[in-house]
Amino acid sequence: MGFGPSWCTLIANLLKSASTQIILNGEPGDYIYHQRGLRQGDPLSPMLFILVMDVLNSLFAQADLEGLLKPLQSTGQRLSLYADDVALFIHPDEADLQLTKSLLEVFGNASGLHTNLHKSNVIPIKCDRYIIEVVSGTLQCTTASFPSAYLGLPISDKKLRKGDLMTWIEQKIANKLPGWKASLMSLSGRAVMVRFVLSAVPIYLLVALKIPKWFIKAIDKIRRSFLWKGRKEVNGGCCLVAWEKVMRPLELGGLGIHNLEVMGWALQMRWLWIGKTKPDRPWAGLEIPVHSNTSAMFAISVVTNVGNGENTLFWSDHWLLGENLEKLAPNVVKCVPPKIRRTRTVADALLNLTWVSDIKGALGWLGLVEYLQLWDLVSDFTLNDLEDVHHWKLESSGSFSTKSAYRAFFFGSITFEPWKRLWKSWAPGKCKTFIWLAIRNRCWTADRLQKRGLPHPDHCPLCDQEEETVQHILTTCVFARQFWFAVLQPLNLVALVPSRRTVSLADWWLRAWRKVPKQHKKGFNSLVMLGAWIIWKHRNACVFDGLAPCLQVALQAYKDELQLWIAAGAKGLKALRVQQIE
Ligand SMILES: [Zn+2]
Repeated sequence: MGFGPSWCTLIANLLKSASTQIILNGEPGDYIYHQRGLRQGDPLSPMLFILVMDVLNSLFAQADLEGLLKPLQSTGQRLSLYADDVALFIHPDEADLQLTKSLLEVFGNASGLHTNLHKSNVIPIKCDRYIIEVVSGTLQCTTASFPSAYLGLPISDKKLRKGDLMTWIEQKIANKLPGWKASLMSLSGRAVMVRFVLSAVPIYLLVALKIPKWFIKAIDKIRRSFLWKGRKEVNGGCCLVAWEKVMRPLELGGLGIHNLEVMGWALQMRWLWIGKTKPDRPWAGLEIPVHSNTSAMFAISVVTNVGNGENTLFWSDHWLLGENLEKLAPNVVKCVPPKIRRTRTVADALLNLTWVSDIKGALGWLGLVEYLQLWDLVSDFTLNDLEDVHHWKLESSGSFSTKSAYRAFFFGSITFEPWKRLWKSWAPGKCKTFIWLAIRNRCWTADRLQKRGLPHPDHCPLCDQEEETVQHILTTCVFARQFWFAVLQPLNLVALVPSRRTVSLADWWLRAWRKVPKQHKKGFNSLVMLGAWIIWKHRNACVFDGLAPCLQVALQAYKDELQLWIAAGAKGLKALRVQQIE
């Protein structure tokens, strides 16, 4: 394969020097020196594996080239390799099967990678019973049927049935929850699990398959219940914030949990992008089923610089003056059959004025005007020898990214003002999620309990004067104002203490933050979260443990917690030098 002797010696040495020890009852045994094979987890091993497996691919490619195997109808790609999974496509023809068997044997003898036919499956696609018997007689494999798992995904020649996908949800997602000890996690801990584990598992499926809406709903039910209660199922009353809002990005007021439906659209867009920019992929040219939102967003996010015009669609791509013809001449486009719109390239359209003959039916008065304008624009347009260049508008690099595509679906949404101060400043996750709930008015204070007809204290447990709302507890309450005074005085920021007329925590935080010197802004944000957290904990101790409100106790708790936060890495807090509070 063209590797020099020194490279081969190097690799051989690496393989020869591998050894293993077996630990039995805690005692490592003698060294076992390997005759062949790789160390487990060696970063080289996947590369070597690919090099070796490429030989198998070449064997089949050669057999194809020499006409020994019946050609495949579609792309001609016979092998799909991933890790130790190999999918091989062959005609159910006895000669082809025998040759396949021999090729696998030759490959096995040369490489040591023998195919265990007993562990392999034959999955017939459109075969009658007689042929299946021939196949199993020749290959001696088990005959299986779709849906079959490949790379952990259920694949099928037909549309996947509800039952198949439900099994997948049970196995891959729902059954994982009990082991997670959710009762020991805070809301923010569970949010992390939902963001990075429960959402990541289905994303793998979303990349490959077009997923029905009920499937997303079924997964969302699990994600939502786990987030709020740590269980598989939950009733609506336990969910403090509407799921649609939770699934927004952080800057739009959510918890940054991916909206799987939107994520699916964004992930599908990658196929459209690759289809455009890498037309040599084996599957290029197959019709990829995508959601209409995906194709619409894709169309407005890509601008094309036409070179030879061979990879740009005349009627639908954005190639003329940075626009597509639907924008420039909507009434003309209406008269072009949809199938032509999806396939006619700029190169073909300009040749012999094919685009003119694409227009079927009467244009009408407006259409005629547009047609004449379009005629002028297109006549001035010339092709060259360069390849068409497609530019993804939503990234400065011009290359597609799923992240930018996902964000694009949220364009125009209202920003959640405090998001940067909240999520980008130092504080433990549980405190941040508490502040997030407090700003959204979603803590279980008396006002909310009353609304739901639940038992609730008549007055604020800290001042015993006013009605208890979370905004009152954290800012306008006499107790809270004394607390903030004690906290802010050593920083010479007494002017920032919330007043009786303060509207809400978010409002006060923003106004105060604006007046803090620049170098202390980050530390101030942490301080606000810490203070609010301490007041809330003090309130809970009064409500649930029967403690009497006491400013000294709260301030002591504040000081202790402050030391812990600084020790844990809250640099902004350290820079404030609030240790001087006594
Ligand atoms: Zn109060």
